[in-house]
Amino acid sequence: MDKKIYIIGSGFSSLAASCYLSKEGYDVTVLEKNDSLGGRARQFKKEGFTFDLGPSWYWMPDVFERFFADFGKKPSDYYTLDKLSPGYEVYFGKNDSIKISDKLPEIYELFESIEKGSSKYLKSFLDSAKSNYDTAIKDLVYKPGVSPLELVNSTTIARVTQFFSTIRKQVRKNIKNEKLIEILEFPVLFLGAKPSNTPAFYNFMNYADFGLGTWHPRGGMYKVIEGMVSLATSLGVDFSKNANVEKIITDANNSVKGLVVNGEEIATNLVLSGADYHHTETLLDKNLRQYSESYWSKKTFAPSSLLFYVGFDTKIKNASHHTLFFDTDFDRHAEEIYDNPKWPSAPLFYANFTSMTDVTSAPEGKEAGFFLIPLAPGIKDTEELRELYFNKIMNRFEEITNQEVKKNVIFKRSFCVKDFEEEYNSYKGNAYGMANTLLQTAFLRPKIKSSKVNNLFFTGQLTVPGPGVPPALISGKIATDLIKKSQK
Ligand SMILES: Cc1cc2nc3c(=O)[nH]c(=O)nc-3n(C[C@H](O)[C@H](O)[C@H](O)COP(=O)(O)OP(=O)(O)OC[C@H]3O[C@@H](n4cnc5c(N)ncnc54)[C@H](O)[C@@H]3O)c2cc1C
Repeated sequence: MDKKIYIIGSGFSSLAASCYLSKEGYDVTVLEKNDSLGGRARQFKKEGFTFDLGPSWYWMPDVFERFFADFGKKPSDYYTLDKLSPGYEVYFGKNDSIKISDKLPEIYELFESIEKGSSKYLKSFLDSAKSNYDTAIKDLVYKPGVSPLELVNSTTIARVTQFFSTIRKQVRKNIKNEKLIEILEFPVLFLGAKPSNTPAFYNFMNYADFGLGTWHPRGGMYKVIEGMVSLATSLGVDFSKNANVEKIITDANNSVKGLVVNGEEIATNLVLSGADYHHTETLLDKNLRQYSESYWSKKTFAPSSLLFYVGFDTKIKNASHHTLFFDTDFDRHAEEIYDNPKWPSAPLFYANFTSMTDVTSAPEGKEAGFFLIPLAPGIKDTEELRELYFNKIMNRFEEITNQEVKKNVIFKRSFCVKDFEEEYNSYKGNAYGMANTLLQTAFLRPKIKSSKVNNLFFTGQLTVPGPGVPPALISGKIATDLIKKSQK
């Protein structure tokens, strides 16, 4: 007999879980408060332009392959992937940029041309990164985060020092050129913390970057969401949009009894939430919450962001599909996010122009531009500040890339702290969850299974394994395994 389960939210983790649970014979309904599916990975279309609202870097293609293979499918059954070449470009000043090739031998040449001897170090660094990748991504990240023993095996014991050193120390000990250092420190920013606060073991992100490459699903990341929704639907999952979950109802034994959705009560005794963990706990009576406000306030959250989706009526020059602007002080901006939260004095920013490689994202002769400034979560967010920072980065963009583009803006839409809070119920408007620092890794993260409410489970970027699209897919699988185990 099918067992009924409701899933709150339709982000990557919820969609992954919906597929796995359905395959296991559960009768699954996904409840999404917004009018479209995909959570932070929703899509925005305007005047012939198409933007991914959130994620744009498709890294770790093997994780997506593994997900679809669990259902006898391949990513290519749902979308077409292109490997980007260059993978991305990093600006350090006016007319001063480095393009990261999609071929390792060319990356070694680049390093050697900038710092003699650095390619030799890079080779051994990437060997260690690959070996960590094999340990972490093929095994450790699929663990449920229940016990510290999950992290203990012969490989991790041999690398224990890497958990207590940081990426920053590891890189700086061996590379002296600031540009190369910043390029090697960049991938761990996806984990949501500073390189100086991220264990060296996480250098597997460097293997994901240089070793596996940067990919683009033709039509954008939203094609992945569409693929997963299509898979889920074929497995029998029901989707309900504009379905705001307002309360999780429990009985006298502290077991899930139902949900209040748009004011109406639905009976169910099994719930998985892919909505932000903190928010989900606010749907419970206070005594049934596992983590206090003070617990959350002490955690290191990944940054929030100020985002702009911009339609240009011209093609942009001197930039790549993914372009990073590291022409200001990295450490100062990091300090203004994590240590001394304030609007950044001179922000680093990231831009993508998917229409440079993907004709589907803008009308001919035009460019779709996405700009992102990382910000401290919970920071004051006003229209005036958004506008001020739009002008700041546009001026820098024009100056650094040597062109005028402000006059070519047809429209722009912004998205910031308040929108993250309102649209996704995100804690302090964080963009991509809780950071993966040493003390917020694996069994030290908020748990998938509630210890206070029977039959309530969590998935997504605030629980294991952490932020990012590949971890969200994995989180959905882990949550399913725990649900299955608990229902035996
Ligand atoms: C700007 C940005 C850029 C990013 N870039 C990348 C990238 O390039 N590569 C990468 O791998 N990752 C990236 N990420 C991170 C990645 O997008 C996320 O880690 C991932 O999408 C999170 O998925 P999730 O399922 O945990 O949560 P979400 O996508 O947030 O899904 C949660 C869902 O729950 C819904 N919800 C909340 N409350 C309720 C309620 N009460 N009732 C019903 N529904 C509710 C929300 O509306 C939402 O749809 C980025 C994120 C952002 C924001």
